[in-house]
Order: sequence, then structure tokens, then C-alpha cells
Amino acid sequence: MTERNNFFDTKIEFLKGVGPQRAVLLNKELAIFTYGDLLQHYPFRHEDRSQFHRISELTELLPAAQIKGRLKEWTIVGEGAKKRLVAQFTDGTGTLELVWFQGITWFEKSLRRDAEYLVYGKPAFFGGKYSITHPELDPLTPENEKGGTWQPVYPLTETLRKRFVDSKAIARMTRTLLEQAIPHIRETLPDALLLQYRLVSKVEALWNIHMPQSHAHLAQALRRLKFEELFYNQLRLIKSKLLQKNEYPGQVFSKVHLVREFYDHHLPFDLTNAQKKVLHEIRDDLRTGKQMNRLLQGDVGSGKTIVAFITTLMALDSDTQACFMAPTEILADQHYQGLKEYADRLGINIGKLTGSTRKKERDVIHEQLRDGSMQIIVGTHALLEDVVQFKDLGLCIIDEQHRFGVAQRAKLWAKNDQIHPHILVMTATPIPRTLAMTLYGDLDISVIDELPAGRKPIKTVHRYDAHRTAVFGFLREEIAKGRQVYMVYPLIEESEKMDLKDLMDGYESVARSFPEVPLSILHGKMKPKDKEYEMARFVKNETKIMVATTVIEVGVNVPNASVMVVENAERFGLAQLHQLRGRVGRGAEQSFCILMTDFKLSQDTRRRLETMCRTNNGFEIAEVDLQLRGPGDLSGTQQSGLMDLLIADLAKDGEILKAARASAEAILEKDPELVLPENTAIRSHLDNLRQAETNWSRIS
Ligand code: ADP
Ligand code: MG
Repeated sequence: MTERNNFFDTKIEFLKGVGPQRAVLLNKELAIFTYGDLLQHYPFRHEDRSQFHRISELTELLPAAQIKGRLKEWTIVGEGAKKRLVAQFTDGTGTLELVWFQGITWFEKSLRRDAEYLVYGKPAFFGGKYSITHPELDPLTPENEKGGTWQPVYPLTETLRKRFVDSKAIARMTRTLLEQAIPHIRETLPDALLLQYRLVSKVEALWNIHMPQSHAHLAQALRRLKFEELFYNQLRLIKSKLLQKNEYPGQVFSKVHLVREFYDHHLPFDLTNAQKKVLHEIRDDLRTGKQMNRLLQGDVGSGKTIVAFITTLMALDSDTQACFMAPTEILADQHYQGLKEYADRLGINIGKLTGSTRKKERDVIHEQLRDGSMQIIVGTHALLEDVVQFKDLGLCIIDEQHRFGVAQRAKLWAKNDQIHPHILVMTATPIPRTLAMTLYGDLDISVIDELPAGRKPIKTVHRYDAHRTAVFGFLREEIAKGRQVYMVYPLIEESEKMDLKDLMDGYESVARSFPEVPLSILHGKMKPKDKEYEMARFVKNETKIMVATTVIEVGVNVPNASVMVVENAERFGLAQLHQLRGRVGRGAEQSFCILMTDFKLSQDTRRRLETMCRTNNGFEIAEVDLQLRGPGDLSGTQQSGLMDLLIADLAKDGEILKAARASAEAILEKDPELVLPENTAIRSHLDNLRQAETNWSRIS
């Protein structure tokens, strides 16, 4: 081990001013075990203490004020919960009241009359005077009198605060540590990158993230540390992708017999340029002799099915089989219907296997998959079971709504013990580029970013509940023109009963308002047979309005339905609203989406509704969703390692991420094993990261 490791691995209790008791606290509360951990416990914001304010200049608009002055008399006023200590504080330009509701006895004892203090806090104007409640109060010293710093605010816990470990205490420890650490800190990025992106050195960045001299210094420190974090995140993902490619050979699919026949005689429409581009990318992958691991992203209705089908033909043309896995039974069913329509034209044997497939049927399918007479199988997780064996599985297509675990992907790989099947992951949930790069950084990514020609963009409007009569009038007109309507209600588990009541009330009110119109109703509490019956009536255009919960979100394709009304739209997330809207706009007619809400709306809700009304572009919507919710809340990110980002923010740092990824790609392309002298810093930092992870797994 190098000297460097030794220093940063030093147990935190050995730092001056910490000691065994505080060390236990830091271990427990903040997972800080070593010097290295403390240095990486970054502040989440900084307070501007660079300026002093005068009492005469205070306004309530100031988020916080810093004042030098003298403490005058104080008294205790009020009773019970209102009991408080009020002290008069003056700087010669006016008087300010300092107020404490808590710790009264302690403060009363420790305050010193006529002593000089530095006060910091949010000023409020009340009863003709300015006051600060629970201010920070420090005796004036030659040090702090100068001001001029930005003070770090660290993540803390209640327990720490109670034990007097606050941001200042952490800052003091960090300063002590930094002073000793400087000679041990090694640069982790190569000079070329520092130069190219004008990044400050590691030492400078660490110093200034904790103790910035100015806002500019802080900004540079942040940029440098974010770049470093994202650079190593991408470097490792790309490295593992390369490793996978080099380690795992793939079958070479170069014959195009069925592909040609389908293309020349059975193609139901011209492919969009985006579909063609993606098919080229896939075909190129399948001919390299390396295993394909590709993500196909395409908005609802962008035409992924035909791309998936033509890809399976490439596998079939080389006498291998293909499987297609969907997350739910309804979706598996829909994919099966879609693919079968094409497969039948070519006389291909395609089957479906789900949890509800009967035993007898199941046995036949198992047999046909083993002897190779069944060429395509569509299904759910049932496909993963060990009894499902193939003669020669060449391709797996995974349709995922949420990210399948790596373990599940590995199970599919293992279905061919000679050579891993190629993998194509499809998703209809558009993911912002930044998120895709980190979530799926180990996959190659293809995007269908264009809808088939002739689609009319769906018109989306927001209406208040009070305008229901007008909305119903509009629905009546559309129904008179022969169209069908969806009315969707939220259904969230915690409030299931209430929601079901909402749905029923809604249904009654629709029934009253449209006495002459046949209706369908659909919700999760219905028996499958009843659901199917209601759905079938709507599909056959026997009913005109479908009142439903979000069960219709997936798996329904009724081109004649041209209006989507979303009730209580404020209760849906952006991704869900976009998915729901995707149920209409499937036919030639102009389609509409009407988002109904109450008057009272939060700012975030307004932003969501405004976004839906402004754009149909799923990627744009996903981008706003990321801004509003942050990466942690987006579906499927839990198991992805995204949480490991300490300082970079995927919602904000897209530009840095792009640069970091481009750099990582360029470096690995030139030097995949990182053996060149110019990449020494990278190699040794990667070793350190690995080392730290091993240590960590030993601890936890
Ligand atoms: P998704 O990407 O949501 O799975 P689908 O594959 O179901 O989309 O396609 C949506 C609809 O668009 C289907 O009815 C399909 O037949 C049609 N479609 C797909 N590609 C084209 C195209 N290039 N031109 C015209 N229609 C297309
Ligand atoms: Mg689809």
C-alpha cells in the first residue's frame, strides 16, 4: 500500500479535536470513518459571510444578515410556549432584537453584556423593529472580524446537533485535517484534462469546497469535483462495456433471407428514418462477432414493434431463436398480438408464455423451444424459469418499464450455454440523456426520435373542474363525430377506497350527463373476465366512453379513441401523464388530451401541466420531470448506483457529464488498459476507488 492510502485511511478518532467519542458519533451519524471520508463529506451549500450589514440597512428581503455589534440588556418575556429571551443588540446605526425560545437558561448565563459579537441570521420586521430569532452568535475575534469567507453548511443529523456537532464544528475538523493533508493529496486527473477544461487542481478544489475564499473559488472547486466524479463514473461504465464486448463473443448474424422477404413483400408502411437508422445500428452490432447489449429508446407510438420484429428476423435468418420478455401479462399479450400479425405473413412459429399459460400448452411450448421448432417466444418473467430451455437462443428483447436487474439479464444470457444471446432492451419511458448515460452507461444506446409521418400532434389543454359543462359539451361533439373518449381517474393504493368512490361518482355523473351514450367502466377491483368484456366492448366501438383508472395506461390500443380526459390531473406525475396521453393519437383523426384539476395548485403542478400543454416530446417531458423530481425519484434508479454520486447533480450538470463522458471515451479508445504514462493518475485513482469500496464492504 502507498503512503497515500495510509494517510487517508487513518481512523477519524486520531484527528486532533475529534477523539473516540466524537468518532463514534461521526461513524454512526454520517458514516465518516476515516480522514478520507471526512474530506469527502462535502457541504451542500455555503453561506455568504463575506459581507457585513448595518442594522440601519436591513430589509426583510435579505435571506440572512451578518452584523458586528455590541450586546445590551436582555429580558425574559412571555409565558409557556411563548416564553423567550429577548436581547438588544446595536451597531451604532440602530438596534436589533435577538430572540431565543430555546436554551434560555443557558444563553442567559453565557451572554456577556457590552461584549462585541458577530450575529448571523434571517432578519424579520415585526412591531416596528428588526429581530433575528435563534441567531448564530459568536464573540468577535480578530479572525472573524475580517469576514470575507463563505461558510460551508454540511449535512447533519439531529443527534449531532444535540451533541453540539454543527456545521462549524465539522468545518473546524475539516480545516485541521486539510492543513495536514495537503502534502498527501495527489492529483487524480491527467494534466491534459486539467488544461483542456481549465480545471483547478485537486488540492485547490478540496480546499475551496470546504473553505472557499470567494464565490468564484467555490464555483471552480465545484466544477472540478463534479467533473472528476462524473469522469470516473463514466470511465468505469465504459470500461465495463468494453470488457463485456471483448470478453463475450456474439453469434454473427449476417444472413438476411427473411429480412429481405419481409422488407420486399410484407412491410406494411415505409419505415421512418429513425427506424431505419436504429435498424442499421442493430445490424452492425449483430455482425461484429461481439455480443450486443443495446438500449432502444422510443416514445410511445414511435414504432418500436416493427424494429423489434425485424431484429428477430435477423436472428431467425441465422437459424437461432428469439425471445421477447415484457414486464406484465397485458403487455406481453399486446406484443404477442403485434408480432404475430407480422410473423404469420412469413409462416413463423411464434408462441406466448406467461404465468397463466395452461400446463398442457406450456408443455408443448417447452418442447418446441427445446427442439427449435418454435422460433419466437413472447412472455413475462415466466420465461426466466429454468424449465424454459432453447435449442439455440440467439436474441433476447426485453421490454422494460422499470429496469430489469442485472441478475435477470444474466439469467437470460445463461439460456444459451454455448454463446450469450444478443440483448436488446427497449423502453418507452424516455430517459433524459444525462440519466441514460449513467443508468445505462454500460449499454449502447439507440433512439427513435421521430414519429411516423402523418401523425397529428395531440392537442393538450388544462381545464378547471368548474368548467366541466364546457368540457362535456366538447366530448358530446366528438362522440357525435364518431370518436371515443377515455376518462381516467387516479388510483393510488393508500387511498384506494376514496379513489374508487371518486371513480364511481365520476361514472354516475357521466351517465347522467350522457344518458344516450353507452359507457364502459374499468378498474383494478373487477374480475379479469369482466374487465376483458368491458374492454372488448370499447375496442369494438360498442361503447363510446371508457371511464377507468390507470389500468388502461398500458396495453390498450384503440385508434378510434381520440380524447383523453384525465381527472385530478394534479395527482399524476409527468411520466404517467405522458403515458396516458399516448393512448390517444393513434388514428388519423385530431386527438385531444384534457387535464382536469381543481383551482388550488402547487407551483410544481402548474409546471407539470404547462409542460404537458406545451409539448408532446417525451424526451423534453422527461427532462422537466428530472428537474422537478431529481434523479433519485425517477423510476428504476434505485438499484443503479446513481445514489453514489456525492456532488454531481444529474438534473443540473448535464454539460459537465457530456464533457466527462467524451473525455473518458477518448482516453479509453486510445489506451483501453490505461497503461500509458500520461494515464498513471487515472490508473492509480481507479485502484484507490476499488480499494475504498473493498474497505467499505468490509465495514458495512
Ligand atoms: P411503440 O413504439 O409504442 O411500441 P408501435 O410499434 O406499437 O409503437 O407503433 C405504433 C403504431 O404506429 C402501430 O399502429 C404501428 O403499426 C404504426 N407504425 C409504426 N411504424 C410506422 C411507420 N413507419 N409508418 C406508419 N405507421 C407506423
Ligand atoms: Mg409498443
